[in-house]
Amino acid sequence: MNSLIPTEGTPLLIGGKLVPGGAGVFATVNPATEEILGHAANATPEDMDAAVAAARAAFDESDWSRDHAFRARCLRQLREAMRAHVEQLREITIAEVGAPVLLTSGPQLEGPISDLEFAAQLAETYSWETDLGTAVQMGITSRRVVRREAVGVVGAITPWNFPHQINLAKLGPALAAGNTVVLKPAPDTPWCAAALGSLILEHTDIPAGVVNIVTSDDHGVGARLVEHPDVDMVSFTGSTRTGRAVMTGAATTLKRTFLELGGKSAAVVLDDADIAAAASYTAFTVAVHAGQGCALTTRLLVPRESYAAAVEAAAKSMAGLRAGDPNKPGTICGPLISAAQRERVERYLDIARADGGRIVTGGTRSEKHTRGFFVEPTVIADLSNTSTVAQEEIFGPVLVVIAHDGDADAIRQANDSPYGLSGSVWGSDPDRVDRVVNGIRTGTLSVNGGLWYHADAPFGGYKQSGIGREMGVAGFEEYLETKLVATPA
Ligand code: NAD
Repeated sequence: MNSLIPTEGTPLLIGGKLVPGGAGVFATVNPATEEILGHAANATPEDMDAAVAAARAAFDESDWSRDHAFRARCLRQLREAMRAHVEQLREITIAEVGAPVLLTSGPQLEGPISDLEFAAQLAETYSWETDLGTAVQMGITSRRVVRREAVGVVGAITPWNFPHQINLAKLGPALAAGNTVVLKPAPDTPWCAAALGSLILEHTDIPAGVVNIVTSDDHGVGARLVEHPDVDMVSFTGSTRTGRAVMTGAATTLKRTFLELGGKSAAVVLDDADIAAAASYTAFTVAVHAGQGCALTTRLLVPRESYAAAVEAAAKSMAGLRAGDPNKPGTICGPLISAAQRERVERYLDIARADGGRIVTGGTRSEKHTRGFFVEPTVIADLSNTSTVAQEEIFGPVLVVIAHDGDADAIRQANDSPYGLSGSVWGSDPDRVDRVVNGIRTGTLSVNGGLWYHADAPFGGYKQSGIGREMGVAGFEEYLETKLVATPA
């Protein structure tokens, strides 16, 4: 199908070699057609041990962590290799992830490729040492220097919804900082990661063992990476539930844990906003990639007196965005990733109905598609913020519209969630908007439609949405240790 994907299936990348998986292969499926695309190497926990050993040796026995200019060059080689193969990568991304082609020119593919430049520049320009000057303690004068160094071996575990974005948002800064990496992608999207491995091997000078890619359909292989005593840090993106297991698994060796987890973000519309425009835009964003985005604003909080108008605007917007073929240029809402994910979304729709929710539009599988995991973009009305579908992450194209009674109540409801990943505020008085922004406990906020996604912008969660920040300088510093060196002056 594609020059990056061998017909017999994609291999593992361990210690600079492409190797088969100890557990044979597993299938990767096109979520838009339910066809088996092909196969990927299925790693065992022993394969994971070999990958960790390779990463450990590359970190301990080479100059990789000290040669900043070389790492910048390698990251740029990777960016250029991905650019040169972008059409093959696009084909894989649409087929394996079900990602609408429109999104591959942004955060699904081309955005994160360009963002590698930000990581390369950090490797070149970061201040690795800070001189604190001299200080006297118990009669001894010492000069103190703070050095920033790579953490060591990083275990990167990623989900399937934006595989290139998340793989590269970990790999870029982790490598720029001088670490070596074992990447364990989600079982649903092994080819996106394997293609990256093949490009690293064929088109970059990244030394053997610096990047290892271990695909598997066994979550236990990820657990092995988390628990491994030779791994210094785990960088995890996925569900809050798995995040808890990762934190527990990492606790036995007390390794650094960086977590990007789930969300149930609120779009807060104030009574002086263009309420129909805000509702319509929010509904549109929740349909993007079938709602499989952690930062989507899936709760729409609107003034009670404008509730009916907001529901109508949201439903009209979503009704115009039917689930469709991700290969078509105009498609916004493609399929869900798997039958299991579709069942999960349908289960939540049943719960909404049983709780007295009104399905204003959508609420069913797509009638147009007899195959593929399509669910129509859905608006649910008449439920409160305490309902199950307003509290739990659905990870499908489902918007819940909730009434609020003024700014203070809107802030209270926005914060009445175990999550704090993202959100938006809509209003025309900047001071009022700012008070609401100050009141919401969340890692990222958009005001009146502002876009926050960029290489230099830190992204991450409050509360149970995670620990730490990805991207930006903050995302790079997650992968650094701090060493203080004191010398008699
Ligand atoms: P998931 O938690 O099921 O799996 C994520 C990864 O963890 C996969 O690679 C999986 O194999 C691995 N894994 C599973 N159990 C493990 C264990 N015990 N130990 C180690 N690894 C384990 O998540 P998913 O279904 O792939 O992705 C969807 C979730 O990801 C959603 O909750 C979404 O909000 C979240 N997400 C968060 C962000 C963010 O930046 N905050 C971004 C994208 C997705």
